[in-house]
Amino acid sequence: MRLPIYMDYHATTPIDPRVLEAMMPSLTTEFGNAASRQHPAGLNAEKLAEKGRAQVAGLINADPAEIIFTSGATESDNLAIKGVAESCREKGRHIITQVTEHKAVLDTCRDLEQKGFRITYLPVDRTGRIRPGELEKAIDGETILISIMVANNEIGTLQPVDQIGEIARRRGVFFHADAAQAAGKIPVDVQKSRIDLLSLTAHKLYGPKGVGALYVRRSNPYVKMTPLIHGGGHERGLRSGTLNVPGIVGFGKACELAQAEMPGESERMRRLRDRLYDGIQNDLKGVHLNGHPSERLPHNLNVSFEGVEGHALLSSLTRGIAVSSGSACASANAEPSYVLKALGMQELLIHASVRFGLGRFNTEEEVDYAVRHVTETVRKMRAAFPLSANP
Ligand SMILES: *Cc1c(COP(=O)(O)O)cnc(C)c1O
Repeated sequence: MRLPIYMDYHATTPIDPRVLEAMMPSLTTEFGNAASRQHPAGLNAEKLAEKGRAQVAGLINADPAEIIFTSGATESDNLAIKGVAESCREKGRHIITQVTEHKAVLDTCRDLEQKGFRITYLPVDRTGRIRPGELEKAIDGETILISIMVANNEIGTLQPVDQIGEIARRRGVFFHADAAQAAGKIPVDVQKSRIDLLSLTAHKLYGPKGVGALYVRRSNPYVKMTPLIHGGGHERGLRSGTLNVPGIVGFGKACELAQAEMPGESERMRRLRDRLYDGIQNDLKGVHLNGHPSERLPHNLNVSFEGVEGHALLSSLTRGIAVSSGSACASANAEPSYVLKALGMQELLIHASVRFGLGRFNTEEEVDYAVRHVTETVRKMRAAFPLSANP
């Protein structure tokens, strides 16, 4: 086994070899500009991009004409929120989101706040879910957009998107959902969940980095949008710039594979994840599960260990397994995770939290190694530096 074993698939995923293979022609012989329709090079590139568009649309049950390619989920979130805010500002200037969104949503909302928009940040319960009743109450005559993610990137908690979509549709408010973590892992259906705008990114589902998409509904209702990037009028005028054809081809292939393999793969992830959690829990006391016990992504495990110091834990753990933690250890003054804070957790447990993100290339053998490595590390630390709360 090559150490450390990669278990940080929420941060990014490696490119699946089948995705890379599919991309190769567009990186070599099929290099045309998809907008150059006058000659075969351009037409071939356009054909490749349109195939990718159909594959991406297929994953979320959308029409290919409703897919706008971007540079990733950060750009998609920005385009969705600022694009609707700008185009609907005459109708109202109120946006509803929630406290555990990705920074791409939260920082965009903060920016709009500076520009005269009113933002409601809904709280979450101890499992990380919003309460639909509170959402309903927060909507007023000026509300133009609800932005709530499908699945959280730290704790894997799934938001009740079907209910949110129902409320949004009934109240005539657009619903944007960030599905960067959920897409390709669990079914995401923009029709069933009545989602009007949906953010995606390729590098979280075994595609290349630097390419993503925004789904923008074209009928019932038609979402009116203002672009952020102006230029040649590509992507229905919503996102100008030469299409990243190799990225789109890879993104499309990655979506096709994810869709085809999802039933078996999500079951395999769930089994591996449960094996990891059960193994750790059987061998250690004082282990807390963060997030929702069942309404969570199948490959996510976020746990806190009582009686250990967070920084020391992570630096020991990452010699054997590549995972991340609830404190931003890279910086001098580690800020505890705002997501875990929003669940009402104590700071000590936030710092001593570990996020495991399993993925396509993890094996049972690797999970068993991780269980041994985690339990030995935590035991040693508890023995060497007994904190008062040691179980
Ligand atoms: C990774 C991630 C993003 C950002 O995606 P990029 O493609 O890296 O810009 C946004 N939202 C969520 C929930 C994510 O997990």
